[in-house]
Amino acid sequence: MPPRELSIVAISDTHNRIDAGFEVPAADVLIHAGDFSGSGRLPELDEFAAFIRAQPHPHKIVVAGNHDWCFQRQPEVARARLAGICTYLEDDGVTIEGVRFWGSPWQPEFHDWAFNLTRGAELRAKWDLIPEGIDVLITHGPPLGHGDMTFRGVAVGCEELLAVVERLRPRYHIFGHIHEAYGITRNDHTTFINASTCDFGYQAVNAPCTFTVPVPAGEANA
Ligand code: 5GP
Ligand code: MN
Ligand code: MN
Repeated sequence: MPPRELSIVAISDTHNRIDAGFEVPAADVLIHAGDFSGSGRLPELDEFAAFIRAQPHPHKIVVAGNHDWCFQRQPEVARARLAGICTYLEDDGVTIEGVRFWGSPWQPEFHDWAFNLTRGAELRAKWDLIPEGIDVLITHGPPLGHGDMTFRGVAVGCEELLAVVERLRPRYHIFGHIHEAYGITRNDHTTFINASTCDFGYQAVNAPCTFTVPVPAGEANA
């Protein structure tokens, strides 16, 4: 028998701009890499929760972004609204059929937004929480040099995140945040996917990104 693969589909930066016709391809796991809302208020979280609840994927993982204030200002209330609907990851991990995921919402400071941290030691401390052996890393923001080029031609990704990803070598690094840098890049060890659904004008025009990860031996029937 060929080895089993876990199928995964990633979206990000939907900003509550997706309409009823927005279709997410079938997969074992649905990932949302943050910025599901516009202003981060609870009614927007409820709208997003209804969308996620309606998706047929057996596993769903959500990370917050800099628009998703409710997870910073009212974390217990916000988490409760997603309870039983999906797995919310904030500097935390989940293992699905032996495939290890880690999620984190932080990004380099830009204006006054949620989950902003100063470049350097503050961000490094969050990335140092990522354990060895992660297969799929999910952050809201990009690392430096991958999916991080703004429309002005400036690479604004996090240099500390790049250093940690280059050391830990996850198979996939999924993020969004820089809408205009939607797409895929690679280095020798990692595939980087900027899964931003919305474009620079906040129109939900970019397709969900699908990929597979082999299930480790011994987990195939889990
Ligand atoms: P959002 O507000 O949804 O987090 O980001 C929307 C857009 O703001 C991005 O597509 C990008 O053009 C811009 N942006 C977000 N973060 C940064 C940043 O750190 N630096 C710069 N120059 N632009 C950013
Ligand atoms: Mn966004
Ligand atoms: Mn963002």
